[in-house]
Amino acid sequence: MGLLPIAEAPAPDVVLYPMRVLLKIQRRWREARMFAHAMKSKNHPIVAQIIPIRRCNLACTYCNEFDKHSPPVPTEEMLRRIDKLGDLRTSIITFSGGEPTLHPDLDLLIRRVRDRDAIATIITNGYYLVPDRIKRLNAAGLDYLQISIDNVLPDDVSKKSLKVLDQKLKWLSEYAEFDVTINSVLGSEIRQPEDAFEVARRARDLGFHSTVGILHDGDGQLKPLNSNQMTVYERIFGLGSGLFSFAHLDAFQRNTVRGLPNPWHCPAGGRFLYICEEGLVHYCSQQRGYPAIPLANYTKEDIIREAAKPKGCAPFCTISCVHQTAMLDDFRTRPRETLAGIIARRKERDPAWQPPASVRALDYMFLRDSHLREFFGAIALKLFRLSN
Ligand code: SF4
Ligand code: SF4
Repeated sequence: MGLLPIAEAPAPDVVLYPMRVLLKIQRRWREARMFAHAMKSKNHPIVAQIIPIRRCNLACTYCNEFDKHSPPVPTEEMLRRIDKLGDLRTSIITFSGGEPTLHPDLDLLIRRVRDRDAIATIITNGYYLVPDRIKRLNAAGLDYLQISIDNVLPDDVSKKSLKVLDQKLKWLSEYAEFDVTINSVLGSEIRQPEDAFEVARRARDLGFHSTVGILHDGDGQLKPLNSNQMTVYERIFGLGSGLFSFAHLDAFQRNTVRGLPNPWHCPAGGRFLYICEEGLVHYCSQQRGYPAIPLANYTKEDIIREAAKPKGCAPFCTISCVHQTAMLDDFRTRPRETLAGIIARRKERDPAWQPPASVRALDYMFLRDSHLREFFGAIALKLFRLSN
């Protein structure tokens, strides 16, 4: 048996497609394990956002998370930090910045996250994505990549534009074995709110997930949308539920865009950690300085204490990844009430709405009068090797 001659070799898509399906199934399985793990105990972080480099190649005028000069955090130090997050049993580790692809050993760092049995994600401006770079991210084992696109044409606020990035999106659609989410943005700094709809539509056309983010001020607080921006927001929402993640099923963001407070408890410092380039733990990108404890010394007691602390900034917070983390905790303590609330609120707005399969499965397991509920729970713990 030799190699197939080139003329008879299967076309790349024929090879790539089943491979992508297989990888997706594996990823969903690991996510399900992560979910079960998060449900089992609240004494570990669900998400840690870690900064491998503060420098960015762009300079979006609304951004307070970058500089133009910082060197990359040394690789050995980054590996120590990832190992520490692994020891704290962190489920998801997200590289952010600055621009994380400027770190020369990002692939090695991603690999280490996977070796520690966590889900590896990055948030990037996408400028350095070319086919070879995407293939190296595949090889490193990246699970998720998120790009924010702010407008259709670059302006003096932001160069993260569909025009500049569209070729990158096509390459991602062709080569990426990881999941891609495109985040469009609304807020007072964005000159053409209708661009957010074009970005969301393009994301859907290419088969990506799409989210919409609301710009916050320097404290992570909301700026309510005006009527024009609200119209665009509703149009994006109308593109279909398949575009939106679990968090968007909830009312958090709908209150946020209207400038209404959200009654929630922020678990930052415990279930969500932000690790700056100095290796200090902060609540989030917009509340740096609290508790500012070195990650190397962070303990389970710190996690429990900081997660429980009330945060004065919570009612008008727009940091959606922390909201999502909090929702998992709500689900953990009150699964039936949380899920029933999410479904009821969504149906109130759209009586014809049908929950996606994942929510229907949870609905069946938690909401129906099923004497099998405990049985399902026990099976899940066994399957995910989490039972005591
Ligand atoms: S690309 Fe991202 S990190 Fe860089 S300036 Fe813009 S928003 Fe900030
Ligand atoms: S409520 Fe939590 S996530 Fe939001 S700004 Fe405050 S500390 Fe950060």
